[in-house]
Amino acid sequence: QVSCSADKPVVIGLAADSGCGKSTFMRRLTSVFGGAAEPPKGGNPDSNTLISDTTTVICLDDYHSLDRTGRKEKGVTALDPRANNFDLIPTGAHPTPQDFVIEGLHPMFDERVRDLLDFSIYLDISDEVKFAWKIQRDMAERGHSLESIKASIEARKPDLMLSLLIPDDNEGKVLRVKLIMKEGIKNFNPVYLFDEGSSITWVPCGRKLTCSYPGIKFAYGPDTYFGHEVSVLEMDGQFDRLDELIYVESHLSNLSTKFYGEVTQQMLKHADFPGSTNGTGLFQTIVGLKIRDLYEQIIAERAGAPTEAAKV
Ligand code: ADP
Repeated sequence: QVSCSADKPVVIGLAADSGCGKSTFMRRLTSVFGGAAEPPKGGNPDSNTLISDTTTVICLDDYHSLDRTGRKEKGVTALDPRANNFDLIPTGAHPTPQDFVIEGLHPMFDERVRDLLDFSIYLDISDEVKFAWKIQRDMAERGHSLESIKASIEARKPDLMLSLLIPDDNEGKVLRVKLIMKEGIKNFNPVYLFDEGSSITWVPCGRKLTCSYPGIKFAYGPDTYFGHEVSVLEMDGQFDRLDELIYVESHLSNLSTKFYGEVTQQMLKHADFPGSTNGTGLFQTIVGLKIRDLYEQIIAERAGAPTEAAKV
C-alpha cells in the first residue's frame, strides 16, 4: 500500500483524447498501487475516483469540457469552485493531504496545472487505431454492422502506427506501440532493452516464446522527440501466450518492479482488460510501475529520508 505524503501531494498528469484508454490505464495503475482496480465507470463528471487510500483521480476535463450552457446548467463558472480547491494543492493547504492523478485532455495545456505536476503521461492513439477500436466496440456493444459503420467513414489518411509486420493491414488488430520516455526527469529512469543507450531490435519469437503470424518485434534506442532527448521502446505485434511474457520481462531493465515477474503478474491478473496482448497493455503496466517508483521516491524525499528505491 502507498503511504501518505507529508503535506504536499504527488501530482501525476495523464492526458489523452477520450476513448484512448485512460480509464483502462487508470485501472492498471490502481492495481499496481495495490487497489482493487475497479473500473471508474465511464467518467461520471461529478465524482473523483479514489484509487487507493491516499490517491484520488481528478478528471480536469470535467471542468474544462463544460461549455457555456453546461456551466450554466451546473451553476459553475469557468473558474469553477472545485478548481479553486485545486489551487490549494500546491500550498499544501488541502484539508486531507492526498495524492492526485489528474486526467483529461486539457490539464497539460494549463500552465498553472502543468507547474503542479511531478510527472506527466500522454496516451496518444493514432486516429486509425482509435477508429478501429470504435468499430470493434460499436459492433460488439451496439450491434452495428460493419457495413453501416463503414458507410459512415470518410477517407482517412494512412496511419503510421499500425503494425509494420502485416503489409497493408488496416484492421487495427495488431498494433505497433511506442513508449517514449524523456531523459533527465528526476526520479525517473527510462526502461531499456539489453543495453542502455544502444539501438536494438529484438525478435524474441523462437524457442522461448510462442508467436503466431505476424510475430513480435521489439525495438529500443535513443531518439529525439519534439526537441527532447528520449529513449524509445517499441513493441510491434502481440503475445500469443501471456504467461510467456516473463521471458520478455526478464530482458527489460529499469522496470521498477518489486519482485521478479511483477509485470507479467499484473498483465495476467488483468488479461481481460483491453490491449492486454499487445504493447498498450504492456507499456501501461510498465508506466504504472514507474509511477509507483517515482511516487515512493518523492514521498521518501519529502519525508526527509531519501532512499534508493528498490529495483529489480
Ligand atoms: P477513455 O477513458 O480514454 O475514454 P477507455 O479506457 O474507457 O478510454 O477505453 C475506451 C474503449 O476503447 C474501451 O472500451 C475499448 O473498447 C477501447 N480500448 C481502450 N484501450 C484499448 C486497447 N489497448 N486495445 C483495444 N481497445 C481499447
